[in-house]
Amino acid sequence: MLSLSELKDLLATPQKIVITTHHKPDGDAMGSSLGLYAYLIQKGHHVKVITPTDYPYFLHWMPNNSDVIIYTDNKADSEKFVAEASMIFCLDFNTLSRINELGELIRAADAYKLMIDHHLEPEDFDDYRHWNINACAAAQLVYDFIVNELEDGESMNKDIATCLYTGIMTDSGSFRFPSATSEVYRIGANLIDLGAEHWRIHQLVYDNATENRLRFLGHCLTNKLELMREFNTAIITVTAEELAHYKIVTGDTEGIVNYALSINGIKLAAFIIERTDKVKLSLRSTGDFPANEICKKYFNGGGHRNAAGGASEHSLEDTIAMFKAILPEYRTQLLS
Ligand code: 5GP
Ligand code: MN
Repeated sequence: MLSLSELKDLLATPQKIVITTHHKPDGDAMGSSLGLYAYLIQKGHHVKVITPTDYPYFLHWMPNNSDVIIYTDNKADSEKFVAEASMIFCLDFNTLSRINELGELIRAADAYKLMIDHHLEPEDFDDYRHWNINACAAAQLVYDFIVNELEDGESMNKDIATCLYTGIMTDSGSFRFPSATSEVYRIGANLIDLGAEHWRIHQLVYDNATENRLRFLGHCLTNKLELMREFNTAIITVTAEELAHYKIVTGDTEGIVNYALSINGIKLAAFIIERTDKVKLSLRSTGDFPANEICKKYFNGGGHRNAAGGASEHSLEDTIAMFKAILPEYRTQLLS
């Protein structure tokens, strides 16, 4: 383990640092990673952000995005950077299985491993942990890490603020989930004071869709939405053929599940999608309903109570049937 004073001593001289985040990074994954990146390069460290896979086009505008290395596109360089690193920051995930092949590389690496995360049940692979499940975003914890743990608030700049604001905004549903406490609003205000243009960030993330995405969304809502009122549940399912027809790319399906949850009385929403290698499930719930429990118990996944995901090795049809067959077990909670 690494103590805070040992960590501060390490960071006092230039280090070779890798920052990584979860599979198919979202706004918080990229916001926390590029926010920490902007901080560490400013302090003179040699830093690489390595993502396990590609990520949505509506995050490509972020400061220093062009420095990001995508592991699947550049395995040799990624492996070299991981092997040479003295420190590896793991942001917005807490089990190495969430970063695919990169996970075992990182497990085997000599570097100190530092976890900054807000998911339940962390795996014990790290040497330093800044972890709080009550945080609305990993980006909130990066802010806390820099300002309160490293006591280096004066090094905050516009790029850092822009990235961290993006992470907090996306993971808190634009500051509307219960996790968006008054403290989160205060951090948001500080980030705006530091130069984050909140209106512009919102526009770049949410008003930046491709035409295909909007037409695909229309198709999902008109033709693919199934209501199971007897369980207060709504399901949207999508075949690989439909994804190809609408030329869907990474990011285009983001947030579609929320439309299903927006229906009056719906407590649980599922978006079930046939990817090339597996069937992926995205669940969202309201109130106390534990979407993550279903993902963990039945779909080899997990997440937060109200936003969780998992996968299935079965066909799309069988996965849909499995999901529907689980609902009676949760009937009381779904109808309460
Ligand atoms: P999404 O539905 O947007 O893919 O994921 C929502 C949340 O569920 C993520 O923030 C993450 O916490 C969790 N999640 C999604 N997919 C998986 C998965 O395959 N495994 C685990 N453990 N968590 C997942
Ligand atoms: Mn997050």
